[in-house]
Order: sequence, then C-alpha cells, then structure tokens
Amino acid sequence: MRVEPAGTRDLRPLRRGTVVECVKEEAVTYVINEPCIGVKDTSCVEVCPVDCIHPTKEEEGFEAAEQLYINPDECIDCGACESVCPVNAITSDAEVPEKWRSFIQKNADYYKK
Ligand code: SF4
Ligand code: SF4
Repeated sequence: MRVEPAGTRDLRPLRRGTVVECVKEEAVTYVINEPCIGVKDTSCVEVCPVDCIHPTKEEEGFEAAEQLYINPDECIDCGACESVCPVNAITSDAEVPEKWRSFIQKNADYYKK
C-alpha cells in the first residue's frame, strides 16, 4: 500500500489560473515638511498615539526648534497627525513632494543627536 505524507493529499489549485502575489511590505513613516517651520502649533503631538513627534512644548529645545520632527523608528504609520495639521505639513515618506525630499533625512537626523 502507498502511504502519502500527511497533509499532502488535498493540495491542488483552488481555481485554474489563480496567481498568488507576495508583496514585501516596506517600512513607511510620516514626515514633517517645510510648512511646519514657524507654525509649531503641536496639533500633531496631541493626536500621536505613540508620542513620536518632538520636541513637545514641555521639552527643552521647543522654543529653539524651527519645526517639529517625527521619529521614523517609532512612527507606526497611523496617519492621525496628517489630518490635523493646519498647514498640511505632514505626509507619508512616499508622498513627500520632490522639493521637500530633504525633510525625510531632516526628520531622522533630529533623533540622531
Ligand atoms: S503617523 Fe501616527 S504614529 Fe506616525 S507620527 Fe503621525 S500620529 Fe504619530
Ligand atoms: S500640526 Fe503641522 S504645523 Fe502643527 S506642529 Fe504638527 S506639523 Fe507643525
């Protein structure tokens, strides 16, 4: 008698022509761009669920900072900050306009100090 390995007998395509596509998820983060400069109203800080936007009003350096920055290692890509910004300064990194591409690095650099 031929014994088939357990779990292999019913492995057949569910539908002819079905293609299974595997897409590797890229890490996404949000970025604060130029329009925040001089505004810093901290609406984004108030809605961020993981407190990854700094400096906050309570932190040393808030007055001196020209804008706020998102920590790319902590951002969970929820998008909550984007919709509350009064000057549309926040986008996902994939949507940063060409003229503001340097702000991706600028946000990350703030957390390397
Ligand atoms: S996308 Fe979400 S987690 Fe990331 S900075 Fe904005 S509010 Fe915070
Ligand atoms: S809500 Fe917009 S303008 Fe206000 S601090 Fe955040 S990024 Fe800057």
